[in-house]
Amino acid sequence: MELKLYNTMTRQIESFKPIHDKEVGMYCCGPTVYNYAHIGNLRTYIFEDVLKRALFLAGYSVKHVMNITDVGHLTGDGDDGEDKLEKSARESGRSVWDIADFYTKAFFEDYDSLNIIRPDVVCKATEHIPQMIALIKRLEEKGYTYTADGNVYFSIDAFPEYGKLAKLKLDELKSGARIDIDTNKRNPKDFVLWFTKSKFENQAMMWDSPWGRGYPGWHIECSAMSMHYLGESFDIHCGGIDAIPVHHTNEIAQSEAATGKKWVNYWLHGEFLLTEKGKMSKSSGEFLTLSLLKEKGYDPLDYRYFCLGAHYRSQLQFSFEGLSAARAARLSLKERVKALGNDVPEVRLQSKYIDEFESYICDDLSMSRALSVLWAVLKDNELRNCMKLYLVRYFDRVLGLDLEKEDEESSGSDKEAELQELLKERTEAKKNKDWARADEIRAKISEAGYSVKDTPEGPVLVRNV
Ligand code: AMP
Ligand code: ZN
Repeated sequence: MELKLYNTMTRQIESFKPIHDKEVGMYCCGPTVYNYAHIGNLRTYIFEDVLKRALFLAGYSVKHVMNITDVGHLTGDGDDGEDKLEKSARESGRSVWDIADFYTKAFFEDYDSLNIIRPDVVCKATEHIPQMIALIKRLEEKGYTYTADGNVYFSIDAFPEYGKLAKLKLDELKSGARIDIDTNKRNPKDFVLWFTKSKFENQAMMWDSPWGRGYPGWHIECSAMSMHYLGESFDIHCGGIDAIPVHHTNEIAQSEAATGKKWVNYWLHGEFLLTEKGKMSKSSGEFLTLSLLKEKGYDPLDYRYFCLGAHYRSQLQFSFEGLSAARAARLSLKERVKALGNDVPEVRLQSKYIDEFESYICDDLSMSRALSVLWAVLKDNELRNCMKLYLVRYFDRVLGLDLEKEDEESSGSDKEAELQELLKERTEAKKNKDWARADEIRAKISEAGYSVKDTPEGPVLVRNV
């Protein structure tokens, strides 16, 4: 199995070759824990999980490191805006530490319920301040920094390769940049490595440093922690595409300026989940969480299936209709798998289906095509059940859909499928202005213990509690 992956750095599909024979170092930017993760964020973590599982299938071992951004940080991607954790603490009356702790736990509940394999190392920014200070010192010694009004800045003009990931054109940037509110910056794209001048009174998270008491800039944590756990050069760095122009660009500048070496060989980025209004984002305040989907009667794995239906480099439009279709498909898969019995050959088998499945996985993680192979297996009348079960298990190692796990909802799947059909009929009736039929269907659905909620993303079935 030779994995081919799209590398954002070269904008090309490349054959994957790790630095150390069979061991892969992978760093994924983790959550900022001042609020719940939204399902857009979770799409990115599902993509990273599929990548990791594909690496396992290809015979690699993976050291997966993920940070938890529990140091405040600002509402803007640059150095402007309000401190997110402080804002959340002020609004809820809790301490910043409590908030970070609470949302970290909530994050991992989502993570586990989506069947995402936990990272080998989960590192909190607040527990790695010495590593960040050491890295900033290294940059200072090499002449990449300047201090102005108490803050330490990275000077991008000292690093000629700045912007190579995002293919930024620096001359245009300089002339076209908006006036930054921070007049200390020599170049508008310079960024803060260490703050001692907080814009906020009573900033709660502060540490001593050679530059005075303060706190680190946002980007330095990922450079410091990834190198601490994976070494100065490693294989894969992932995140959402929004990280390319600022966060990952600045991470590269700091890391490569400090070591003088190439830092990361493969950059992989997941595309956005969209709502009707555009990109789902935390700062806009309007977003869907996994708990909300659960309240509406969906299983987290319905959402995982929904995400597998689109390529990770394509934008994905969320809709409850799409999610319901994913749910119906997943439950139908489970019923089919259940009917296969328990016998499975002990030996490693060859099959054209395995070749096909692997070829899609290797083709930059084409998960929707890989899923279609699973369906083809289950619908193949020539194939014996034990062989089918073997293939299901083999494929599920990457899909992560837990297809053999018993859960209470599969028994209700027929009923739900029927209700979904009714819901479609109701939408049709409404379209044709047949209000009587639409009301009749609503009543039927209600009798079955469900209600219909009309949302901007279309009508959804909600289980009554
Ligand atoms: P955050 O917790 O905001 O730092 O984001 C966590 C991860 O989710 C990052 O890798 C982001 O790039 C990614 N992300 C943010 N918004 C979306 C979205 N709408 N769709 C997919 N991924 C996203
Ligand atoms: Zn990062």
